Amino acid sequence: MRILVVEDEHRIANAIKKGLEQERYAVDVAYTGPDGFDLASTEDYDGIILDIMLPEMNGIEICKNLRQNKIHTPILMLTAKGQTEDKVKGLDAGADDYMTKPFSFDELLARIRALTRRKGVVLSADLSVGGLILNKKLYSVKRDNEEIKLSSKEFSLLEYLITNKNTIITKDQIISHVWDYDADILPNTIEVYIKNLRNKIDKPFKNRKPLIHTVRGFGYKIEEK
Ligand code: CA
Repeated sequence: MRILVVEDEHRIANAIKKGLEQERYAVDVAYTGPDGFDLASTEDYDGIILDIMLPEMNGIEICKNLRQNKIHTPILMLTAKGQTEDKVKGLDAGADDYMTKPFSFDELLARIRALTRRKGVVLSADLSVGGLILNKKLYSVKRDNEEIKLSSKEFSLLEYLITNKNTIITKDQIISHVWDYDADILPNTIEVYIKNLRNKIDKPFKNRKPLIHTVRGFGYKIEEK
C-alpha cells in the first residue's frame, strides 16, 4: 500500500512517514499544497493524508481539484483542533474521513486501514487464497497452517497481489503501489521478488497448485486455478 502525506509541518509529516513505514506502507511526503496536488495527480496512491492548513494551496482546494479531475483516491483530512467548519468543508470537498490534531498514531493507523480497504475485500485483517492466509495485523503468512517467513517487501508485494486476486497486475502497478517515489526499482527487480515469493509460497507446497501466475506481456496474477 502506498500513501501520500501532505503536511507543511516537517516534524509531523516525518513522524507520520516514519510510523507508516514501520507498518510497511510505502510513503511519499509533500510539504506544500502544489507539490501535494502534483503528486496526487500523477502518482497512483492507495490513500492520501491531507492537512488542511497548507501554504499556497490549502487541503480543501487540493481535495476539490482532485475530485473535479476525477481522482478518487481515498483522502483522510487533518484539521486543527476547534475548526469544526473545516471538517464540514473537507467532507463537502470530497474527503472520505477526517482527524483532529493532535491525534494518536494508533487511531491514524486504524483510519488508514479502513480507508485503504478495497471494495469487495472482506473487512478483516485476513486475506486468503488457495490455503494461503495473510494477516495484516499480525504480519504473518501461513499456507496450510505452515508459517512462511517473508521480508518486509515480499510481504507488501504479496499483500498487493492478494488484495487484487484474480486480477492481472502489471509490473508498473507493483512498482507504484509497493515502493515509494524515491525507490529506484527496475522491472527486473520485480521479477526477482516474484521468484523469491514463488520459492516461499508455491514451491514447498507440492500437493497444491501454484498461486502466482505469469501473464506473458502483461504481468502477474494470484489465483487458485
Ligand atoms: Ca499545516
